[in-house]
Amino acid sequence: MNTKPSVSFENTEVAFAHKSNASLRKMYGLFTLMHYPFWLHTAINVANWGLKWKLPIKGMVKYTVFEQFCGGEDIPACRPKIEELATYGVGTILDYSVEGKIDIASYDRTKEEILKTIREASRMDHLPFAVFKVSGIANIHVLTKVQAGQALSKEEQDALGRAERRIKELFAEAYRAQVRIMVDGEESWFQDVIDGWVKDAMREYNQKTAIVYNTYQLYRHDMLRKLKDTHHDAVANGYFLGAKLVRGAYMEKERDRASEKGYPSPIQPNKEATDRDFNQALQFCINNKQRVFLVSGSHNELSNHVLTELVDLHGMKRKDERVYSAQLYGMSDAISFNLAKAGFNVAKYLPYGPVAEVLPYLSRRVEENSGIAGQSSREYLQIKKEIARRKSLPKRA
Ligand SMILES: Cc1cc2nc3c(=O)[nH]c(=O)nc-3n(C[C@H](O)[C@H](O)[C@H](O)COP(=O)(O)OP(=O)(O)OC[C@H]3O[C@@H](n4cnc5c(N)ncnc54)[C@H](O)[C@@H]3O)c2cc1C
Repeated sequence: MNTKPSVSFENTEVAFAHKSNASLRKMYGLFTLMHYPFWLHTAINVANWGLKWKLPIKGMVKYTVFEQFCGGEDIPACRPKIEELATYGVGTILDYSVEGKIDIASYDRTKEEILKTIREASRMDHLPFAVFKVSGIANIHVLTKVQAGQALSKEEQDALGRAERRIKELFAEAYRAQVRIMVDGEESWFQDVIDGWVKDAMREYNQKTAIVYNTYQLYRHDMLRKLKDTHHDAVANGYFLGAKLVRGAYMEKERDRASEKGYPSPIQPNKEATDRDFNQALQFCINNKQRVFLVSGSHNELSNHVLTELVDLHGMKRKDERVYSAQLYGMSDAISFNLAKAGFNVAKYLPYGPVAEVLPYLSRRVEENSGIAGQSSREYLQIKKEIARRKSLPKRA
């Protein structure tokens, strides 16, 4: 598709209007450090170790990466950032980001916390969606066995039943509160089980509008087809399809497992194929806007241009509730804030949770942003440009 940008992402004044000079300088320091991934990873590992041993380093982690990429340790702590984003027309998606806990009590606690995010969204403006990861409330080893068609022990059957009940409770609460809820996409070897649950929930709760959204990872070569199949099912059964499109976050893991176990990789042959399918999926959703509610989760500028152009081309209102662009907090502010300024629906995932427990999430963000190529460099250059722009302004008397 040939796109002529309808919104420019070059305006750093808009992108960083919410940042004071001091916090911009801090951000600059952090993104400079991202060019030295070895040291950054060492720092994260040391932090991980230090927090485990209760060394007094929490303040330092909180002041640096945590503050850049997270909202706080609990929902009340996130509220100032929610308000701040809202001032610029950007919504928030509270994302409880505790990972790696695999016991019943933790699954139950996480489910309770997600319920709180749903209730917060129903009470507070500026929270257009709730979100959760099934791996935070279900044992993925059990789901993997289910998908592989392996027999479950009695204990595993019980775990599966509990997981299903937790998930159903979340959907039911979201429906009761009329809060749209997205289910994140995860690894392919248990994603089919999630897809089955989400499709059932869409059939049940998406009769009048989209309340439940599934995620489609377009780095999988079968995903555009799956999106179209689900649309077909939505038409046949008279419900609305909620679709969050992303490229996908587990590419290396997917490829490694496929080669280790000797099955064909589910991942596209190259980045161009992922980009092509992602943009075609955007087009498919907008072409079928009578039936599809779309969230495009991407930091890719071209895809965001494609999205804005499609909305304009189809004569949709930029504030049409059926279309959102979403980014992660602390990243791609140039996209989020410029889109919001141009009148489009935009929201940021705002991760939160106890510092020690969101470290795996932070580690992934560092991974994504490290190195001198790609988005990190773009981010770094934009921050640098904005600092220079502010310096060049005439001093006030
Ligand atoms: C709001 C939001 C929600 C998200 N939710 C999820 C989620 O639920 N599940 C999930 O898995 N991820 C999720 N992500 C992460 C997302 O999948 C991407 O990893 C991330 O956004 C980078 O992709 P991009 O579109 O921003 O841009 P880009 O930087 O243009 O794309 C990078 C992506 O392209 C793909 N890619 C890179 N190289 C290749 C290659 N050689 N061959 C094939 N594909 C390649 C990979 O998916 C890689 O992450 C989310 C992201 C956002 C912003």
